[in-house]
Amino acid sequence: MTTQQSMRGDVAVLVPAAGQGIRLGPGGPKALRLLRGEPLLVHAVRRVAAAPSVGCVVVAAPPDEVAMVCQLLGPGVLVVPGGATRQASVAAALAAAPAGYEIVLVHDAARALAPPVLVERVAAAVREGHPAVIPALPVVDTIKHIHPTGEVMTTLDRSVLRAVQTPQGFQRSVLEAAHAAAVDDHTDDAGLAEKIGVAVWTVPGEESALKITRPFDLAVAELLLDRP
Ligand code: C5P
Repeated sequence: MTTQQSMRGDVAVLVPAAGQGIRLGPGGPKALRLLRGEPLLVHAVRRVAAAPSVGCVVVAAPPDEVAMVCQLLGPGVLVVPGGATRQASVAAALAAAPAGYEIVLVHDAARALAPPVLVERVAAAVREGHPAVIPALPVVDTIKHIHPTGEVMTTLDRSVLRAVQTPQGFQRSVLEAAHAAAVDDHTDDAGLAEKIGVAVWTVPGEESALKITRPFDLAVAELLLDRP
């Protein structure tokens, strides 16, 4: 991969890619599963690097695969060993992000087809002054809160619910403070920022930024690759 050699922007993107991807079935770390012959991570980094705002990409790789991922992505992408949780992997990548990047985006390798326009949309909102920005889509299903026994406890008001994606964007100092203050594990970085009282802004998400989690999602992603 060579596209990252032309990166010139003022935004650093952290890509946690150290998950095992158990829900995708057997076959090794999820970020290294192939989508039309190339690892999900390569698809994700290629799209991020194509966004004009991006100047630097830091990947948190499965600890046993750091050398291989370095080779896969080529010069220009920093690769560090990831941690036991997504949050630990993001923290490791953040610690390795070069000084001088005051806008930092966090983007899951699992959202391999998130388009460059989404990266630009999130970065622009941070640049406009929002300390934390997330892409969000309306929820199409009715969502219910279910008791562990299986009984429905309540039906949530769908009109105020949103499904949240990555990349999520932050002023660097905000992301650093949020991670420094973390006491429990969160599934996204905006959740950590909320915990320290930061206002989180939403921008429209993209359906193509779906999270590739289960075998069905891989099949959908395969079809999306054929769209113009
Ligand atoms: O676990 P989940 O599917 O939510 O993972 C979201 C992203 O976080 C994936 O790109 C995965 O590779 C990454 N991750 C990580 N380190 C972990 C667990 C997940 O970088 N220990």
